[in-house]
Amino acid sequence: MNIILLGPPGAGKGTQAKRLVDERGMIQLSTGDMLREARTSGTEMGKKVAAVMDAGNLVTDEIVIGLIEERLEGDNGAGFIFDGFPRTLAQADALGELLAAHGAKLDHVIEMQVDDDALVARITGRFTCADCGEVYHDVTRPLPADGKCVNCGSTEMKRRADDNEESLKTRLMAYYKQTSPLIGYYYAKGNLKSVDGLASMDEVGASIAAILDQG
Ligand code: ADP
Ligand code: ZN
Repeated sequence: MNIILLGPPGAGKGTQAKRLVDERGMIQLSTGDMLREARTSGTEMGKKVAAVMDAGNLVTDEIVIGLIEERLEGDNGAGFIFDGFPRTLAQADALGELLAAHGAKLDHVIEMQVDDDALVARITGRFTCADCGEVYHDVTRPLPADGKCVNCGSTEMKRRADDNEESLKTRLMAYYKQTSPLIGYYYAKGNLKSVDGLASMDEVGASIAAILDQG
């Protein structure tokens, strides 16, 4: 089963994708994670996209489509979770073609609905474990008193360069202008489902599980 998690920055796509990886063995394809990896590995492409990402703008369709194309070869039968991709109509068309070329299809597009105030609060307090990627929040999910990651025990945490108020404004604008038209696109194709992204992590997880279990 192949699904897209669609929603604005901070909607919780990555959190839910990780759950699905753990619970169902699906493969998470996060273009944001791939691009951040490319940056730290110092490739030409990584250098090219760094400034674009930090400002909160979208990198070119060509780059992200190329990244996804490579990863589709790693199909394990449990399905892919597209997280942060597609973000433009051109990317959505390309994904449809790539899947078709692999004899696969998109089963569900799950829109995670969250209002802007909640997004700003979520994102500006967000940090992650530098070693395992566990997600924390200054207010809603601080580190335990010993300062160690609950998952791996590391004390090294990091914050994303684009998780600041200025870049977030640009990211939200990019979402409304370039990505939100995908809601209509997938609605018209008949595979759009919506969940309340403001519910608790477990409730959102349960809503998504219900969609996947219904087939
Ligand atoms: P967010 O938490 O804002 O949803 P991501 O981690 O998915 O962020 O992506 C971070 C940044 O990486 C984006 O702001 C954009 O610059 C770039 N990016 C990620 N995915 C795409 C994509 N599919 N198309 C264009 N740019 C992308
Ligand atoms: Zn950790």
